Amino acid sequence: MSDMQTTANADTAGKGAAIRKVEIFLFTQEMNNVAFDVNPGGIDMPGVRTKRTRLGVTIETVDGSRGEYIGGRSDTVLHTKFLAKWILGDNALGREQVYEKARRYLRKEDRIGACQIDNALWDLAGKRAGASVTQLLGGTPRRLPAYASTWFGGDGGGLATPEAFADFAEECYELGFRGFKMHGWTDGGTERDIGAILALGRRVGGRMALMHDSACHLKTFGDAVLVGRACDEAGFYWYEDPYSDGGLAAHAHRRLREMIKTPILLGEHVRGVEAMANIVIADGTDFVRADPDLDIGITGTMKIAHMAEAFGLDVELHGNGPAHRHCMNSIRNTNFYELAMVGPSRGEAVGTIYRSDYSDKMDAVGKDGCYPPLDGPGLGVEYDWDYVKRNLVDHIVVQ
Ligand SMILES: [Mg+2]
Repeated sequence: MSDMQTTANADTAGKGAAIRKVEIFLFTQEMNNVAFDVNPGGIDMPGVRTKRTRLGVTIETVDGSRGEYIGGRSDTVLHTKFLAKWILGDNALGREQVYEKARRYLRKEDRIGACQIDNALWDLAGKRAGASVTQLLGGTPRRLPAYASTWFGGDGGGLATPEAFADFAEECYELGFRGFKMHGWTDGGTERDIGAILALGRRVGGRMALMHDSACHLKTFGDAVLVGRACDEAGFYWYEDPYSDGGLAAHAHRRLREMIKTPILLGEHVRGVEAMANIVIADGTDFVRADPDLDIGITGTMKIAHMAEAFGLDVELHGNGPAHRHCMNSIRNTNFYELAMVGPSRGEAVGTIYRSDYSDKMDAVGKDGCYPPLDGPGLGVEYDWDYVKRNLVDHIVVQ
């Protein structure tokens, strides 16, 4: 960025709220009891140890305000770095302006790398104002009803058979969960997915809201219809990303909705409010999806939530974390907090990275099946930066 441009942006920001520095931390975190060799989505597998790379961002203003966020995807780090360069000197409280830059500058990259920056800016704004993100959004803290969202089915692990899914659903019910979502097998067949759907309906139907997430693994539209009819029979709450179109083919899902009764949920792979609106207008989905780790942060997620509200639809947030909890507490038209990914061996998708008592462990669910709201300033969590620095892969400073 030229000196002239920096000066112009700072003038716009006024006073000390201009962004002075963005730091990007890539680090590794151990994962236990999950295997990725058969399925990149992960299967429950006791005894397996592996690592994943994670991404954290800190943002500082000229006058010393600071925002932090750890989460989201790490493979978009170059996009995060690119955007960081272009927001130096901008008003840190001007999140709509940063959103606009992200939308344009990362338009060829789907803007996923903008999420950590937007979420860190919300943390910064909250801390600066002495208010939680929920308060900034006009929300009300409340306990969040959660569903247990499982690892994929896989041989040799804790979710190897349809009955194992039903057993695990009962375990989740005993913990307090009143929602349960299965991710099926990815072998190209439908038999075991259908078996698990029917087993879940028999064992916990009527006691838990049940969901099936194919995560696009079914090969064909025909298979999607077969599995959808099983969801109908078992009284499922929703049927998510049924087959390998990527959850993008609105026309096909409108046809599918005419053939089955179970509500469809698309949108995990549809990026941003405009594209999601196109799916809704084309009658491609019943539930709308949004994720502050995928859709330009909290700012983009709230835009999608309001778009869904305009159509009278519910938005269901994908994944979990502090940003998700604040968004959910600020959205009327939503139902469940996704506690992903879980299994009987207790492998976690996102390891604990907090000094504060925040937890997304499945065993931290309340007896009421809920997770608590966050009420501290900003995101209301304290990250363990010592852990991050001890496990650092790369540290990028943009200033
Ligand atoms: Mg999904």
